[in-house]
Amino acid sequence: MARTKLFRAPHKYIQAENCLLEFCEETKMLGDKFLFICSRSAHRTIRPLVEKSFEEAGSDASRHYEVFGGISSLGEIAKFRKMVQDEGINVIVGSGGGSAIDTAKATAYYEGLPVIVIPTVCATDAACTGLSVLYNDDHTFNSYIFYPKNPDIVMVDSGIIANAPVKFLVSGMGDALGTYFEARVCASNDSPSLENGGIMRSAMALCRCCYDTIREYGLQAKAACENHVVTPPLDAVIEANTYLSGVGADNGGLCVAHSVYDGLTALEERKVDHGDCVAYGTLAQLILEGAPKEEYEEVLFFCKEIGLPTTLEDLGITDPERVKIAAEKATIEGESIHNMPGDVTAVQLYAAMIAVDAMSKKYFPEG
Ligand SMILES: [Zn+2]
Repeated sequence: MARTKLFRAPHKYIQAENCLLEFCEETKMLGDKFLFICSRSAHRTIRPLVEKSFEEAGSDASRHYEVFGGISSLGEIAKFRKMVQDEGINVIVGSGGGSAIDTAKATAYYEGLPVIVIPTVCATDAACTGLSVLYNDDHTFNSYIFYPKNPDIVMVDSGIIANAPVKFLVSGMGDALGTYFEARVCASNDSPSLENGGIMRSAMALCRCCYDTIREYGLQAKAACENHVVTPPLDAVIEANTYLSGVGADNGGLCVAHSVYDGLTALEERKVDHGDCVAYGTLAQLILEGAPKEEYEEVLFFCKEIGLPTTLEDLGITDPERVKIAAEKATIEGESIHNMPGDVTAVQLYAAMIAVDAMSKKYFPEG
């Protein structure tokens, strides 16, 4: 019997240039004692806009801002939980990149409070998902926490994204590139989504839209971000990287591309971020799937156009033997690569990762 279908998403998603000027209005139903857990740069960029929204609304809600320089570790979460209890906080806000957001989500979950997420880069799709990565205080991986719901509100100020380094936007497109192809495999053989549900047609529609959007507007969005201006193509790609990719992956499932990222974390010479590895992993997945030439070329040409890695050298790997270590780690038990029909061994994944490099050199001998 087929798996029970499931679909989850943030309750409210808001995106526009200067949308943070509406922060007070958009969030007041959640509470009146806010704790903001912000990365250093997020604190600098969001605080003036958020404060203006409270002042203009004449609100007397309390706002406590904490600059967060750590990682989402058990010790940090315990520290913020104590702050919440001592001050009677009733809404948590996480702003910055992955760590501040994950810490805020975990604090809110353990304290039974609503959480608002304000990403200041769109390098991954973490803002909209219903899970966090947890670390030990010595920075080693602890576990994933899967929450019973997605964030209550996600607010993305396009002006802030336009002023963040373009490499984050590009890396986010790499993360978004895997979404459709990974979900397609999961849907084809009734593998579970990240939320452990059956994959709905609605999820597949978002995943497809994610892929179409980055292919159509990726280059224009990159040009806009390089020049720190907000344009409709940039807004389209921000939505793809943040909402379509996050909600798509949550409800569509993961496969080879994300396991390749997990595997590559074993190599200290790797010089690129999560999304860059997912892009390379997407190409490896297409090889393993035996995808048609036209589809492979479409994805390869997109990666070249945007500046995502297509060779081992682009990933920072000079010794192909090292790929064996990554392939071993990517195929350990519990990895999403096992959602592939017929399964994939470390030897097969190694072959695919070498083939991606070789294909890229065939198409682009000049590099
Ligand atoms: Zn990802």
